[in-house]
Amino acid sequence: MSPSFPWQRTAQGANLLGSDGHLAATIFEEITVLAARHGAINLGQGFPDTDGPEFMARAAAENIMGDHNQYAPGAGIAELRMAIAAHQERFYGLSPAPDTEVVVSTGATEAIAASVLALVNPGDEVVTFEPFYDSYGATIALAGGIHRTVPLRAPDFQPDPADLERIVTDNTRMILLNNPHNPTGTVFGRDVLEHLVELAIRHDAIIVSDEVYEHLTFGSPHIPVASIDGAWDRTISISSAGKTFSFTGWKVGWATGPAELIAAVRTVKQFLTYSSGPAYQPAVARALELPDSYFADFAADLGDRGRQLADGLEAAGMTVYRPRGTYFVVADVAPLGFDDAADLARRMPEAIGVAGIPLSVFCHEEGAQATRTLMRFAFCKQRDILTEATRRLAGLPQAQLT
Ligand code: PMP
Ligand code: GLN
Repeated sequence: MSPSFPWQRTAQGANLLGSDGHLAATIFEEITVLAARHGAINLGQGFPDTDGPEFMARAAAENIMGDHNQYAPGAGIAELRMAIAAHQERFYGLSPAPDTEVVVSTGATEAIAASVLALVNPGDEVVTFEPFYDSYGATIALAGGIHRTVPLRAPDFQPDPADLERIVTDNTRMILLNNPHNPTGTVFGRDVLEHLVELAIRHDAIIVSDEVYEHLTFGSPHIPVASIDGAWDRTISISSAGKTFSFTGWKVGWATGPAELIAAVRTVKQFLTYSSGPAYQPAVARALELPDSYFADFAADLGDRGRQLADGLEAAGMTVYRPRGTYFVVADVAPLGFDDAADLARRMPEAIGVAGIPLSVFCHEEGAQATRTLMRFAFCKQRDILTEATRRLAGLPQAQLT
């Protein structure tokens, strides 16, 4: 497929597996379809198998039956923008102005796309870590940007400072950061964040920080890069109700940052979707006011499930890289005798009734080689499902793979 149209560049940027040039389905969709076809346990696509707080679902339903069905304001309803600002203040001591420094988006995905489309000119370089979330590569390609990556390698998936120095240069327009990091489950500490901010200042780059897993860190509290000295003026922070409140399908996200950058995001966002989810936004506003205990319990519960799955994968014979955040765990299938996790991921749903995502699809060529035997499993699933999944995975070495 030669990339003569923007959608083809986009598909290439996202490293779509199995694309035949007609329907370019993301890896998440491809594996979810395979899992459904074979009735497999889906530890591939990252969505919880239990919905979030019932009061949110009820509020959204009442809003639909009431009068919250016409376009919301482009920037999001005031109640939600105020709740987002209050959340940033409560957890991070940041105080974005609700009217000018907060914008509600259709999921974090739209906020990422609007940021990149608003601020990256064709030929500008955008730096991400690698492996990278698929929408980054796709959106950078769509904007005509040049995607540069800083490798993260097992076992700890932390960047080498020398790589950062080499890859972030005066050609860098944007550092697109993801912390906590999907797919590796790593968390970047203050030292890495300070280095990134220092580089952004030195090279006059903008930071876009995707922090959708901000409430899923196990051990140390999340540090938003925007809270590092010197960062605020050049940083857009992005998050999502889908992750924090387990309603991924609602697609309510947001971006916060200085007025000038948020105005840029708002401008482009108007022409992507204009506005989003009037019935959902008031429910998310109320949820953001939940007491600290909700957020602490959520992280503790997911941390436990992560340990359960990691223990099970280890017992099944894999080498496991335990996550410090997100709801994903990475495991190496090489000890089981497999040398290609992408091939295995396509066969597993039928062969043993479990689905996972190969790490190579989050990588360019070199990174794909380095991560060839690694697979990502989602643990935002019920405990008995995780138990059954690991029981099935233990049968992998003996399975007939067709
Ligand atoms: N960023 C990362 C790192 C993600 O894992 C996801 C996936 N859910 C998103 C963005 C997209 O979030 P949303 O569903 O709110 O668009
Ligand atoms: N963010 C989810 C994941 O990493 C998937 C969302 C999607 O399907 N685009 O699994």
